[in-house]
Amino acid sequence: LLALMDGLQPRENVIVIAATNRIDAIDPALRRPGRFDREIELRVPDERGRYEILRIHTRGAPLASDVDLRKIANETYGYVGADLAALVRAAEMHALRRFIRKYNIDVRSPEPISAELLQKLEITMEDFKDAMKEIRPSALREVLVEIPNVRWNDIGGLDNVKRALREMVEWPLKYPDAFERMGIDPPKGLLLYGPPGCGKTLLAKAVATESKANFIGVKGPELLSKWYGESEKRIREVFLKARQVAPCVIFFDEIDAIAPRRGLYSGDSGATERVISQLLTELDGLISRGEVFIIAATNRPDLLDPALLRPGRIDRVLYVPPPDFRARLEIFKVHTRRMPLAEDVDMTELARRTKGFSGADIAAICREAAMQALRRSNLKPTKVTTEDFEYALSNARPSISQEILNYYKEFETSMKKQTIQVIRGTEHYELT
Ligand code: ADP
Repeated sequence: LLALMDGLQPRENVIVIAATNRIDAIDPALRRPGRFDREIELRVPDERGRYEILRIHTRGAPLASDVDLRKIANETYGYVGADLAALVRAAEMHALRRFIRKYNIDVRSPEPISAELLQKLEITMEDFKDAMKEIRPSALREVLVEIPNVRWNDIGGLDNVKRALREMVEWPLKYPDAFERMGIDPPKGLLLYGPPGCGKTLLAKAVATESKANFIGVKGPELLSKWYGESEKRIREVFLKARQVAPCVIFFDEIDAIAPRRGLYSGDSGATERVISQLLTELDGLISRGEVFIIAATNRPDLLDPALLRPGRIDRVLYVPPPDFRARLEIFKVHTRRMPLAEDVDMTELARRTKGFSGADIAAICREAAMQALRRSNLKPTKVTTEDFEYALSNARPSISQEILNYYKEFETSMKKQTIQVIRGTEHYELT
């Protein structure tokens, strides 16, 4: 192939077009001037693209008046052209089945259906909704990308954190033009830190849901592979995928496992170094147009490699505090929303008695109380009572101590000495 391409004369008017979905698997020798020297990336279509594709595939189809293609385009994140074609086909099949049932049509009869009756065949919005349940978006088919479904109101308390996230992540993802008009680059990345189980993952998911972005979650320790070069490759793939399905939030949980301060652990034959430098390269290469946003989370921020927290990389840090009394009350409400509660259950009292408990601790208490109710009633329908909560409480211990909070406070002080933007408004370093 190389020899033939090199032998091609420009005057021969022959153009070679090649296609792949695995650009990295191609011999680099092919991607040189004189050979394949132009590359066009065809991305997963955006909303407008999806609308146009849907219009093309529904041309001539008997759409009912309630079918709103724009709405369908808006709701089909991650669908590629082939998925949309399949979606229309599935909707047509639904409509056809409904039609056959409704008019009692004998499909085996050799008689053609009368033109008059055929007029009544139409595809409704409901058919598209049903079809969407069958046809899943292929850009999201790999384990990696999810469509998050955590909403702001699934998270109790943390109002200041939510507000900051909205401004920092939701705005750039939703309104990139506004930033461009003002001549500023939106931030690329943010570090959330704070005690475990206090909602960092929930927050990252909620901000992705609310900005209608995709979500790629990476757990630090899981990304590391013992095979040479494998971890770096995974990091590259994560960023590549994120760009393909942009707007996208990449969430690195337990980032301290991927990017520990260099020199902290020796004896892994440079693997850590290579992983960190790959991560930094990807961060630097990310053009901040608000399309891909990185959220990293850790409960050991002091272990991080300082090169990660630099302007142009992850240059904002935001403390996610443990829930105070009010927040705990809300968290109890969130986690008992779908439970049948007895009238005597006093959430205020529960919130008052759970100082030092994290959101995850509270979620566990609610689960345990409901389990206890089931045990008590021998699996018969029953309500969760104060006694059940007492039982759950008596077996639970708070996971957050004042020492832990002092440690985060120290970290904040050390950050303020650097060119890192410490987002204000969430400092809350006492157990209340
Ligand atoms: P982190 O990432 O900070 O370790 P997570 O966000 O994974 O914590 O929280 C773990 C679980 O604890 C969540 O799935 C949720 O059930 C519960 N939880 C934590 N914080 C809250 C909160 N503020 N509101 C509601 N539930 C919470």
